[in-house]
Amino acid sequence: MDIENAAKAKGEEINVKSVVVILVGAPGSGKSTFCDQVMPSSTRPWVRICQDTIGNGKSGTKAQCLKSAASALKDGKSVFIDRCNLDREQRLEFVKLGGPNVDVHAVVLDLPAKLCISRSIKRTGHEGNLQGGKAAAVVNRMLQKKELPKLSEGFTRITLCLNESDVQACLNTYSALGPMDTLPNGYFGQKNPDAKIQLGIMKFLKKAEVPAANTISDASRIQSSFSPQVFQEKNPGYKRVENVSSFPVNTAKDLKECEDLAVCSAGSHILNDDAPTLAFPSISTSDFQFDLEKASDIIIKKVEEFVNKLGNVRLVLVDLSHRSKILSLVKAKATEKNIDSSKFFTFVGDITRLCSERGLHYNVIANAANWRLKPGGGGVNASIFNAAGPALEVATKEQAKSLQPGKSVAVPLPSTSPLFSREGITHVIHVLGPNMNPQRPNCLNNDYITGCKVLSEAYTSLFEDFASIVRTQAKLAKGKNVNLVTNPLGLQEHNEGVNMKHSPNNDQKSKREDVNYYDKSKKYKGSLYEAEANIHDFRTEKEHTNNDKIDASTTKVWGSWAQALYHIAMHPEKHKDVVLEILDDVVILHDLYPKARRHLLVLTRSEGLDCLTAVRKEHLNLLRTMHDVGMRWVEKFLQEDASLIFRLGYHSAPSMRQLHLHVISQDFDSKHLKNKKHWNSFNTAFFYDSVDVIKDVSNHGKATLRDDESLLSTELRCHRCRSAHPNIPRLKSHISNCRAPFPHSLLQSGRLVLPP
Ligand code: AMP
Repeated sequence: MDIENAAKAKGEEINVKSVVVILVGAPGSGKSTFCDQVMPSSTRPWVRICQDTIGNGKSGTKAQCLKSAASALKDGKSVFIDRCNLDREQRLEFVKLGGPNVDVHAVVLDLPAKLCISRSIKRTGHEGNLQGGKAAAVVNRMLQKKELPKLSEGFTRITLCLNESDVQACLNTYSALGPMDTLPNGYFGQKNPDAKIQLGIMKFLKKAEVPAANTISDASRIQSSFSPQVFQEKNPGYKRVENVSSFPVNTAKDLKECEDLAVCSAGSHILNDDAPTLAFPSISTSDFQFDLEKASDIIIKKVEEFVNKLGNVRLVLVDLSHRSKILSLVKAKATEKNIDSSKFFTFVGDITRLCSERGLHYNVIANAANWRLKPGGGGVNASIFNAAGPALEVATKEQAKSLQPGKSVAVPLPSTSPLFSREGITHVIHVLGPNMNPQRPNCLNNDYITGCKVLSEAYTSLFEDFASIVRTQAKLAKGKNVNLVTNPLGLQEHNEGVNMKHSPNNDQKSKREDVNYYDKSKKYKGSLYEAEANIHDFRTEKEHTNNDKIDASTTKVWGSWAQALYHIAMHPEKHKDVVLEILDDVVILHDLYPKARRHLLVLTRSEGLDCLTAVRKEHLNLLRTMHDVGMRWVEKFLQEDASLIFRLGYHSAPSMRQLHLHVISQDFDSKHLKNKKHWNSFNTAFFYDSVDVIKDVSNHGKATLRDDESLLSTELRCHRCRSAHPNIPRLKSHISNCRAPFPHSLLQSGRLVLPP
């Protein structure tokens, strides 16, 4: 209003209009991020109205949103309505906020469903708590209701974003929108649709009248006339595609995804997304040329036999193409037999990328192996060995040198394998089926009596191996066999049921950094989805007994993955590629997953000094050395960049074995800082300043530990001004600008190290 008055005072006739931007998009489509990016860069006063936080930071009602929007508009502000607004009815009341001085826009973030799902699954600290496994089902359900907005609803402008570059262009438009600017009215964003795609859609819909290619490929005509509404109106089937698949059809690839999802959408498996899941290819039907009808009967028989025996697990038959004959046969027979589709279903996709590309959570895969258990040969065997990297070959050799037809061998996947880190796969079960192909060894020469017997045995062995992994997991989770303690940095649900969920993230390196133990207390029930990298320990009991060191003094089990620092400290000379400095008592290295611009670890070389609980007075000198060495590196860093500020300290309950001091700059500017646990482990009393540890040990002979795990779940607060933030992206955006002085407590006793 100030601008308007100022203009009037100058006698200018300026029509200053507020804007209501109704964001339309599924959870995970990027609505809040859109607001977060526009608001700080735009000179127009914006208010973001989010139903998830409208009730004093908590979820509220649509009425509250409307009231708040009306009030912001009255103050001359522009408004983002940050809720899904996926159907006309949801939008109706908000559109009515428009008027002579208020334009109503829609920004439609119509990104591929799989992207929204994977983002929703991965996010942490979501305002509406829609994250983790449950998000997939919700996103899918919501997308069923999607109705793209139309100008006739009352919008003056609609921008349709179908991909990230559309979103970026739209972001630029709104970010540049000054207080007195207006945007042109109309429908924007649909560009140059590809003729092939429309043909594809028609084909998918099995329309009798496929338009002639030349008609559709008339790009100029399409550009002016093709809009989703126009297309939808001309092609009522378009909506059917959305209903079937929840995917907007934008590209040929998306079209395929529609079809793929249609194949698997018959099942309610998404609702059972947390269950331990075995993905397996059809054994022997490809290269080994086993009869498909017979093979499908065997699969169904074995699935029926095992599916209930196994309890709450999922068996998923996978093939690369939606045209897979074996998949269709099995799917039809499974429906006929009424097999519970939440426990067994078929799925189209690359078995080595089902999570990253298809959003399917799975833990174990079967490999149609060769008898030598070697990589190569093409088909699924080659893909799995390729995708798993050399680690699988080595791990396989440790288990077996060869395999008999009808047998299987389960191989725990090393953490170094991308299949573990990217997909969350913990075991590969190699299976050898019967061979009917005369070009391959041990051909059964059409002896289907033997062939069927061997194939049945192969599936039995496969499902039994899977069952054994699940059982071991269940035992471990219940803490029956080993005395496990919580690793608070990797909190996860310890539930009555077995939950083998591992939420891999996309950053290849950052996988095992917060691998965890099992929480015996069930205190963190429900917190599974809060931890981004909550990886379950899948190792067998045998592995645990052999590999894990149990520190009797602390009853803490260190998983083999948690021993990386210990190995480096014991043999730094073998790790010259990663260590920065080797001294008599300590080793210095970069944190592999730095949570700030500068993040070092100073490791003690003393064997048996696993963590702070083991520290006693005799270690005082060592603690001082660790501190001094850390300080020396801080000085070096400060010479390079005087804007940095450091803190040196220990995690009260570390995730990695071998006492290590964190030397960390306080910018927390790092892609590895991803979740609440990460933040709180460095910014609550969980982080034990080195100076305090030294004082404590010197006064009391040991460190008084504050390893209260609830510290890690406390709300996100800026380490400088202590303001609270709903999620990590918001916190990060805040801390990148916050220049408030650090709290007094940190400025005392040398806890913070500032440039001279
Ligand atoms: P803590 O919770 O104190 O045990 O922290 C362990 C730290 O070790 C984390 O900051 C990890 O990012 C880091 N880390 C994990 N694995 C490695 C590794 N192999 N080399 C260096 N740092 C690692």
